[in-house]
Formats: sequence, structure tokens, C-alpha cells
Amino acid sequence: GPAPESDKEARAWIKGLGGETKLFIGGAWKKAKTGESFETIAPGSGEVLTRIAQAGAADVDAAVKAAAKAQPAWAALAGHQRARYLYALARLIQRHSRLFSVVETLDNGKPIRETRDIDIPLVARHFYHHAGWAQLMDGELADREALGVCGQIIPWNFPLLMLAWKIAPAIALGNTVVLKPAEYTSLTALLFAEMCQKAGLPEGVVNIVTGDGATGEEIVKHPGIAKIAFTGSTEVGRRIREATAGTGKSLTLELGGKSPFIVFDDADLDAAVEGVVDAIWFNQGEVCCAGSRLLVQESVHDRFIARLKARMETLRVGDPLDKVVDIGAIVHPVQLERIRSLVETGVKEGASLHQPKAGVPAKGCFYPPTLLTGVHPAATVSRVEIFGPVVVATTFRTPAEAVELANNTEYGLAASVWSETLSLALDIAPKLKCGVVWVNGTNMFDAGVGFGGYKESGFGREGGREGLSAYSRPKWLAKAKPIAEK
Ligand code: NAD
Repeated sequence: GPAPESDKEARAWIKGLGGETKLFIGGAWKKAKTGESFETIAPGSGEVLTRIAQAGAADVDAAVKAAAKAQPAWAALAGHQRARYLYALARLIQRHSRLFSVVETLDNGKPIRETRDIDIPLVARHFYHHAGWAQLMDGELADREALGVCGQIIPWNFPLLMLAWKIAPAIALGNTVVLKPAEYTSLTALLFAEMCQKAGLPEGVVNIVTGDGATGEEIVKHPGIAKIAFTGSTEVGRRIREATAGTGKSLTLELGGKSPFIVFDDADLDAAVEGVVDAIWFNQGEVCCAGSRLLVQESVHDRFIARLKARMETLRVGDPLDKVVDIGAIVHPVQLERIRSLVETGVKEGASLHQPKAGVPAKGCFYPPTLLTGVHPAATVSRVEIFGPVVVATTFRTPAEAVELANNTEYGLAASVWSETLSLALDIAPKLKCGVVWVNGTNMFDAGVGFGGYKESGFGREGGREGLSAYSRPKWLAKAKPIAEK
């Protein structure tokens, strides 16, 4: 097969960070005032890549002040002027896509093929798309105003893509931001900050502070912030909702999921098997909208599961930099342990475990593609988000039962429906309580469409027109009419 992607350029860039990263505040690189830092590892090998600065209250305060200082002038620019910066950022990301891809793959463990072909192109698309919204503020959207300084906190599963989802709409509409990447995957956010410098983005428009949950809490409680945008676990989301209640801060939350993948007996079974591969083994299953609950109509269950098991034997788990690898490394040993223990619980509660014979590399942070069958809908693994390459399967008899099972969750992010009878799929889709329903497909995203969930999957939508309400507010400017006109 092809040689592994070279990581020479990425390693030189990481080395250039000097062993410990800095914070990007007011357009300049600053040491964290805490003097503290922590290691970040490459989960594919277990090696330490560098140390990440732990920002504290004083650092967050400096970042918020820089963002607040920059915001009025940024919002006062004509929309087409702001758009030029978004276009420049999109082009810089494309120009450096190889570097971004390899750094992301080293830091997160996801396969290089996915970073290169999915993450980074979607990031560029997000900036291009939102440049358009910036320009509409010159006329069409002239009655909307920016919110101010936005505090943005993101997870580790799509580090740069989640950054793009947050930063592109915010700055397009005239906000300035303080963004905190997840502690396991801070590197591409720092590389992005370098692109902001290259693009000549006015200082203070984008500020990047690294750190763990404690840094996140400092952002959430800072009084200078007008809006918090959070993507991450439902548990932390709940805490942020409580912490911002009664503070006047706007809030959007993109949280967890346990999305159903429904296969009817008339589905194209081979296509549906490929669908499952994409739904649960893309990005090691570390996907908020992963199709982690497989619901198969009883009459085709055994046939379908047999084909799925055969396909599982062909999935390649290994070095994320290897271009032929399908499943890379799990982001961190802590997450690996969580997956292991949940699967153990599943087996204890009566599920049958299936994993391919090939096994996984001994070194690094790997978990095999895993199928649990005969899983009761009330079992722990049917309810809890595993956030790993584990799909749980159960059967249903009628469309009504499929809907009932699909909706039997505290979450509601996505659903995937497989049937060759369009009328059946279109009858089911509106009954599923979730933000997006994919018919005979899965994992389709677009910058032009609002993404978000029902129930515990979140609050608000991001992207497309909905992103407008998330990052701006309407303003009616009413002038008193001169008396003579009355
Ligand atoms: P997490 O909630 O542990 O961490 C997310 C971010 O919040 C990190 O940057 C972390 O440092 C920060 N954080 C932790 N505690 C905090 C606190 N008390 N206050 C403020 N910030 C805090 O989640 P994770 O493990 O990084 O990510 C996995 C989760 O993200 C999954 O549940 C997944 O479903 C969800 N996710 C959702 C979407 C979506 O769009 N709905 C997208 C990607 C991931």
C-alpha cells in the first residue's frame, strides 16, 4: 500500500512551539500567567507531543478584554470587509491543509484519510459559507447586530472543525471571540491562530486560550462575555446552563447523542451495511451524531448482522498516519478505559460481543470495531453515549415499534432510516424526535444547514440561517416622526 503520510513538516511545526505552547491574546503570543502546563499526547503512539499552557482567570480576563476592545471596530466594518478576512482564512487553511491534517491526526488519532478528505475541507467550506452571511449584513441583514464577545468551548472529536463551526459565524456577524479548545487536542487551534496573524485579522478579534475544564469555567462566568457557545458532553452542558442562568448571557449547547440507525426489511442491505460502517466507525465512533443504536427489522436481522460481521473483518485499525487505515486511535487512555468498561457492562447485562479476529496494535490507544447484539433497550449500553467504535443492535417488528424504540432516549440529535420504500421512510422521518433525519444515508453535514438536537442533545442550532440567531440579534431602529408629517 501507499507509504504513511509524512509527519516531518508537522513535527517541525510542533517543535517550533518550543516545548510549551503560548496563548493567543490580542493578536500576540503570551505565556500563561499561571505558569502551569500539561502534556498532550499522540494517541497513535502514546508519545508526548508537547506541553499545553493552562490558562487561568487572569489569562481569560486578558483575552476577554482584548476581545471587547476589538469588537466595536470589527462590528463597524462593512460586511464585505469582514468577509474578505473570512475568505483569506479559508484560503490559508486550504493552502496549509496538509500541515493542518497531519497535526490534527497526530494530536487526535483520527485517520489521515478522514482529516484530509473530510475535516479540513469542511473547515474551509465553513469559512467560505459564512463570508456570505457577513456580506448580507450590508443590506439584507442590516437590521441585525452582533452580540459582543463570545466565549466558545469545544470538544476533542473534531478539533478544527468545531473551531470553524464556532468562529466562522461569530466573526462573520461582527462578534469577537475567546475560544478554548479541548485539553487533549489544542494544537490545530494554535495553528489556526497563526493563520489569523497571516490573514492580518485585526488583533483581538480571535483569542485562543488553552486549558482544561477549569479554564472553561472561567470563560463561562466572565461578566464581559455576551454569549457562551458550548459543544461537549451533556453533563458539562447542564452545568453551563445552570451557571449562565440569570446572567443575561446568550447560550447555545451542542451536546451528546445516542442516535438510532433503523434498517427495514426492504432496505438495500449492502448499502445499509456500508451505512453502519460510516455511522459508527467513522472517527472511531467519537461522533456526537454517531448511529450507535442499530435497530433492525426482525425478519432481516440475522442476515443483516451476518453481512455486517463479515464487513467488520475487513476494517483496518492502526497507525492514523497510514493512508489505508479505516479506524485510528482513541483520543486518550481515559476515553479508552471508558469504552472498555461500558462494553464490559454491556456483556454483563446480557449482550453478545462481536469483534473482528485481527485485533489491534499493541502500542498506542486502540479499540476494535465492536458490535453488541441482543441488547435490551433498557440496558446501560442502549442508553449511555459510549463515544467509541461500539454499536448496539436490537430488533423491531413494525414501523411503529421502530419509532418508539428510536425515540426511547434522553437524546435527539440525528437518525438514519434505511428502506427502499420512500413513502415508509418519509412517514417515519417526521415522527423521529431529533434534529436531522438521514434517509438511506448518514453523516451528511453542510455549513448552510442548522445543526442541533432535541432534549438533552442540546439547545439552539448552529450553522446556516439558524447560526444567525445564534450570533446576532434583531434591532428595530424606530425614529419619532416630525409632527408636521402626522
Ligand atoms: P466535555 O464536556 O468533557 O468537554 C468539552 C469541553 O468543555 C472541553 O473543552 C473541556 O475542557 C470543557 N469543559 C469541561 N468542564 C467544563 C466546565 N465545568 N465548564 C466549562 N467548560 C468545561 O466533552 P468531550 O469529552 O470533550 O467531548 C465529547 C462530548 O461532546 C460527547 O458527549 C459528544 O457527543 C459531544 N459533542 C457534541 C457535538 C454536537 O454538535 N452536538 C459535537 C461534538 C461533540
